[in-house]
Amino acid sequence: MADGLMPISPPPLTDAFGRTVSYLRLSVTDRCDLRCAYCMAEHMTFLPKKDLLSLEELEQVAEAFIRRGVRKIRITGGEPLVRKDIGALLDRLGARLGHGLDELTLTTNATLLETHAERLYAAGVRRVNISLDTLDPAMFHEITRRGNFDKVMRGIDAADAAGLKIKINTVGLRHQNAAEIPSMVEWAHGRGFDMTLIEVMPLGDTGEDRIDQYVPLFDIRDRLEQIWTLDEETARPADAGPSRYVRIKETGGRLGFITPLTNNFCAGCNRVRVTCTGRIYMCLGQDDHVDLRAALREANDPSEALDEALDRALLRKPERHDFHIRDRDEAPSLPRHMSVTGG
Ligand code: SAM
Ligand code: SF4
Repeated sequence: MADGLMPISPPPLTDAFGRTVSYLRLSVTDRCDLRCAYCMAEHMTFLPKKDLLSLEELEQVAEAFIRRGVRKIRITGGEPLVRKDIGALLDRLGARLGHGLDELTLTTNATLLETHAERLYAAGVRRVNISLDTLDPAMFHEITRRGNFDKVMRGIDAADAAGLKIKINTVGLRHQNAAEIPSMVEWAHGRGFDMTLIEVMPLGDTGEDRIDQYVPLFDIRDRLEQIWTLDEETARPADAGPSRYVRIKETGGRLGFITPLTNNFCAGCNRVRVTCTGRIYMCLGQDDHVDLRAALREANDPSEALDEALDRALLRKPERHDFHIRDRDEAPSLPRHMSVTGG
């Protein structure tokens, strides 16, 4: 610099426990074309469109996080691909890749991937997480309460053909897919996809009994160990987050376990979530949040107000979540559905 002074970069987002946030999950809609029985109620009331952040506001939020050191953004929902202007948002955020952002990714149910896959790749997306809980079309219809299995398979094929690296996310469900997990692992690894199993979390009332849905992942892991050799990955990848990974010797593929109920993973938490209405949730398992939309819409200097709101939020990031599956008749531990924060 001409005056010899170094530019001052804004401080990173560090919480009270010394954890630095470098990963943002940004939800762009609460709507979805499916109604997965563990995620949503059959008859959901969705938010009025005016409550949602506009494309420009979503971009402003993302920019505020990137300025403060966030290097990875995952777009989620609801189903992110049902949002009409999603392509434009991805293009704009994609332009930040290599300029503050290391990775732009997406979590999707794949129903609309057939038409969107190439556009995602063109925007700079290289990896997608695809949620799929069964390979049985009838069971798929039962779990999603409406989905078209063939369309999802075509979406997966399109993503693969477009060059996107795919990870399959599967929620373990006691009666619906627990017995099918080994064949799903075989299928995913056979196609060269990583896979992650997720314990069902008691978020929101879905009209279904959580105790009936829940299966501890150590049960499933025990079953897999009777079939295959599971080698624990000692070098945890930087993006592992809450997943614990194994490499299956016989299939050659990676399998992750996300176990919020049986094994707390909060010590290494590097992420926060922003909803489509601009609320930042500092922890998936807690209800505390800070409103960024007010900072965006009411402040004289939105960028300064966003910065201040992020600092306030980070100070309140709790040390750990506190999930538990309660008795049958009790309310869920958190009233918020997963589709609000996007997982
Ligand atoms: N619609 C997209 C999808 O399904 O991939 C993105 C949003 S969805 C809320 C994100 C992830 O959350 C999915 O992998 C889904 O399986 C998972 N999920 C939803 N509700 C859950 C719950 N109660 N417990 C555990 N995982 C859940
Ligand atoms: Fe929709 Fe994803 Fe929730 Fe299923 S898990 S209802 S696809 S938001």
